[in-house]
Amino acid sequence: MATDIILKNANVITMNAARPRAELIAISDDSIFFVGGNDEVARLTGKSTKIIDCAGKTIIPGFNDAHLHLFSLIRKLTSLDLSPDKVRSIADIKEVIRKAATSKPPGAWISGTDYNEFYLEGKRCPTRWDLDEVAANHPVVLSHRSLHACVLNSKALELAGINKETPEPPGARIERDLDTDEPNGVLINMLGFIRSHVMPPFSDEELEEGVALADEYFLSHGITSFQEATVSNDLARWETVCDLKLDADLLSRVTMMAGMGYWQDFKERGLGTRSGDNLMQLGAVKVMLEVEPEQAELNKLALDIHQAGFQLAFHAIDERTVTGVITALEYVNQHSPVAGRRHRIEHCGECPPPLLERIKKLGLVIVTQPAFIYYSGERYLAMVAESQLPWLYRIKAPLEKGIVVAASSDAPVIPADPLMGIYAAVTRQAESGQTLQPEERVTAEQALALYTANAAYSTFEEKTKGSIAHGKLADVVVLSDDPTRIPPEKIKDIKVEMTMIGGEVVWEA
Ligand SMILES: [Zn+2]
Repeated sequence: MATDIILKNANVITMNAARPRAELIAISDDSIFFVGGNDEVARLTGKSTKIIDCAGKTIIPGFNDAHLHLFSLIRKLTSLDLSPDKVRSIADIKEVIRKAATSKPPGAWISGTDYNEFYLEGKRCPTRWDLDEVAANHPVVLSHRSLHACVLNSKALELAGINKETPEPPGARIERDLDTDEPNGVLINMLGFIRSHVMPPFSDEELEEGVALADEYFLSHGITSFQEATVSNDLARWETVCDLKLDADLLSRVTMMAGMGYWQDFKERGLGTRSGDNLMQLGAVKVMLEVEPEQAELNKLALDIHQAGFQLAFHAIDERTVTGVITALEYVNQHSPVAGRRHRIEHCGECPPPLLERIKKLGLVIVTQPAFIYYSGERYLAMVAESQLPWLYRIKAPLEKGIVVAASSDAPVIPADPLMGIYAAVTRQAESGQTLQPEERVTAEQALALYTANAAYSTFEEKTKGSIAHGKLADVVVLSDDPTRIPPEKIKDIKVEMTMIGGEVVWEA
C-alpha cells in the first residue's frame, strides 16, 4: 500500500461530488492513489514515502485555463508593459519607448503591449508621429490591450510596406489622417499579420527566455493545464509546442487547437481532436471569422470540420456572431448529430435567453472569461447597448440550464490568473467598483468548477483531470485560503503556495 507522496492535514476541495472534502491525498507515480482522512497516513506510508504536512492549507485540483494564446503571451512577457498600471498618458508611453530606444541598436524592433486609450489622458491612441519623436531609427509596434488594434511608427510602417497608396486589406483597416490620407499608424485587425509577416520571428534565445517566463507564470498561478486557442496554429506551431513539452521547457499540460486554415494538414498527418497524450494533445479546430461570413458559407465550413471528426471552437462575442454560430451548428445537426461532440463557443459575450435555449439543445460548451468583468466592466457599462447589458458574459444562467461553462483568461488579453476569474465570477465586480449583473453571480464552488472540472470536460479529459479522486492525474494546487470560506472580496488576494503536476512539485512560493 506504500505510496510516493502523501499530502496530509489539508483542507482538500476535491470537486468530486462523491466526496467533496478530504484531509489527505496519497499519490503514486503521476496519479492520485487515495483520497481520505488523516487517520490513513500509517496505512499508506512506506520506507520511501514523502510526507508533506499542509498545516490546514487548502488544496484544489490544478487550474485549467480553457483558452489562451501562448505565443502572444510570450510576446507580452518579453515586451514593454504599457498597461494602465504603468502609464497614464501618451507622454508616459513616449518616455518608456525613448528609454528602450537608447538601449537597443538602431533597426532593432521595440515592442510594447497593453496600451488602452480608454485609460489614457485625453482618451486617444498614440500615433506614428508620437512614436517617431522618440524612436525614429527603431521600428516600433504597440499592441492594444484587446489585440485588435496596434500602432506602428513610421519605420515599422515602412517595413510593413504600408503607405498612403496601400488599399484597405480585407477584414482590416488602416486608419488615416483625414486631411492628408496618410496612415496615422493605427491598424485594426492587422497585429497578427505584423507579428508573423513583418517582425522577425523570435530568435532561439528570445523564445527560450520567453518560454521560461511563460512556464513560471503559469505555474505560479496554479495553472497545471492550458488550452492554446490561436487561429493561426499550424503543424509547425504544433511541432514547436511538442518540442517544448518533450524538453520539459513548458511543464503545464497543453491542449492545442488547430487553426481553421490548417485542419486538413492535421488530418493528413493523422492527427485529430484528442490526438496525443495527457502532456500534449490536439484540441478543437478554432474558427474565427474577421469578415462577416455568409451564413451558408459558415454552415458548410462547420459541417466539413464536424464531419472530419474534429471538435469545433468558434470565436463569437456579439449576439449576431453567436447567433450565426448556433445557426451553423443547427444546420450541421440536421446532417450529422452534434450531441456528444462538445462543440464550443469561445467568449459568448452576448447571450440573450433564446440563444441559451438553442445552445442547451445542441449540447454546446461555453468558454467564458469571467475576469473580463473585472478588467473591462467599466468600459462595458460605457460602451455596450443597454439592451445587451443583462446578457453579457453570463455564467449562472447557462449553468442553471445545464450548459457546461468553462473559464479562461484569453491571456495575454487579461492576466492568466484563475483566482481573479473566480473572484469576478463570484462578485461580478469591476475594477472600478461597479457591479455588473449581480443575478449572474455564482458560488465559489461553481466558479472553481469553471477552471477545473468543466474545463476538463471541454477537452474530453474529465476522466483524468478536473477533480481530486482515485486514478486522476496528481495535478493539484495548494492555496493560502479557502475560496469557499472567506468573504468573496478576499478571493482575489488568495495566493498560490504550491503547484504540483503529475505528482511532482513544480513550483513553490
Ligand atoms: Zn482568444
